[in-house]
Amino acid sequence: MTTSEPVAFDAEKENLILDAVERFVDREIKPVAQRLEHADEWPADIVAGMRDMGLFGCMIREEYGGLGLSASTYAKVVERIARVWMSVSGIINSHLIMAACVQRNGTEAQRQHFLPRFASGELRGGLALTEPDCGTDLQAVRTVARRDGDHYVINGTKTWISNGIHGQAFAVLVKTDPEAQPRHRGMSLFICEKGAGFTSTKKLEKLGYKGIDSAELVFDNFRVPAANLVGGAEGQGFKHVMGGLELGRINVAARGVGVARACLEESVAYAQLRRTFGEPICEHQAIQLKLADMATRAEAARLLVEQAAKAYDAGQRCDMEAGMAKLFASEAAVENSMEALRIHGAYGYSKEMNVERYYRDAPLLCIGEGTNELQRLIIASQLVERSPI
Ligand SMILES: Cc1cc2nc3c(=O)[nH]c(=O)nc-3n(C[C@H](O)[C@H](O)[C@H](O)COP(=O)(O)OP(=O)(O)OC[C@H]3O[C@@H](n4cnc5c(N)ncnc54)[C@H](O)[C@@H]3O)c2cc1C
Repeated sequence: MTTSEPVAFDAEKENLILDAVERFVDREIKPVAQRLEHADEWPADIVAGMRDMGLFGCMIREEYGGLGLSASTYAKVVERIARVWMSVSGIINSHLIMAACVQRNGTEAQRQHFLPRFASGELRGGLALTEPDCGTDLQAVRTVARRDGDHYVINGTKTWISNGIHGQAFAVLVKTDPEAQPRHRGMSLFICEKGAGFTSTKKLEKLGYKGIDSAELVFDNFRVPAANLVGGAEGQGFKHVMGGLELGRINVAARGVGVARACLEESVAYAQLRRTFGEPICEHQAIQLKLADMATRAEAARLLVEQAAKAYDAGQRCDMEAGMAKLFASEAAVENSMEALRIHGAYGYSKEMNVERYYRDAPLLCIGEGTNELQRLIIASQLVERSPI
């Protein structure tokens, strides 16, 4: 497991960026989220706006053209976006994990080559790990890269890849030595730009999380320069990916906080408007209990995200903290979306209401960036490792 370089918290910078993001979300995302989500339409104008704001370089260091935000500030950015439309935060998340893999593990030449283009959003993409036959057990990937002169030739299929259609570059986890034992020693990570032999084949249809493209990627004798092997040495890919996923899990957790809060806020408002038996439903104790639990879950989730982001910013290993935040915040989003639906009664089941969308979006958070079952395994193994007897 690699650790990140410490990043100092900058309150002034955080206030500026959060102000700008809140204005952007109110002006550019809120009015169109429902329509684009139901049409499953990729939000081209929102992506252009995020490019202009520099959000594709959120966590890329300033020397490479990014905003150089801390993970703590980045998590707040994500929360504010996800509170209105979760899919939009997904467009920057997997892109930034790819960038984090290069920033933390790449050679200086790779950083200089890729990071400014990632930061400007000129080259956008994501992380390609999952395959048709494996997701949780990533060491079982079957995509293979074989050395051929100053290139590698990649063959295999990746699936469920976020930004797969509209993205142009992906950090792709492969086997460079399929026979290696333990298996992770034979794994490497390449930055691959689409071209002959590397195509996205089909857009996958989903329950929720619409608007963002999830796709299958096919590598058919794709030639990638050896210079794109992250870190320049074979056998490090699994480690690089695990480090990147710490940030990914903080992001997913922050999305969970955003969704959990949206469910709460809309329920608090609705419960004051809707009347039964002569009074607003917020006067009924059964509704009050739900609101109290929803608020407590959202707040506890936010604190866990803050704790994980602080550990990440301090350059500490934080798979346990990120795992706890991801586990708790995603379940909080699922529970709050169900409660919001109940509080809204029949209207909660209507496609005209946001809560219907939150209810379809939230379950993804329990699956993406490692399922919640896997998070529990990570937390438990860290508990033992950190407290030997
Ligand atoms: C909308 C969406 C977007 C995605 N985006 C990306 C992306 O950008 N890039 C990418 O690489 N992947 C992406 N994924 C894939 C996602 O990361 C995987 O779905 C996830 O890691 C789980 O893998 P799996 O679906 O193969 O489930 P499996 O690994 O087949 O697991 C099936 C079930 O078994 C459980 N399980 C597995 N092993 C164990 C164990 N040892 N102990 C206990 N329980 C276990 C799992 O928790 C799960 O409940 C995306 C998925 C979705 C739905």
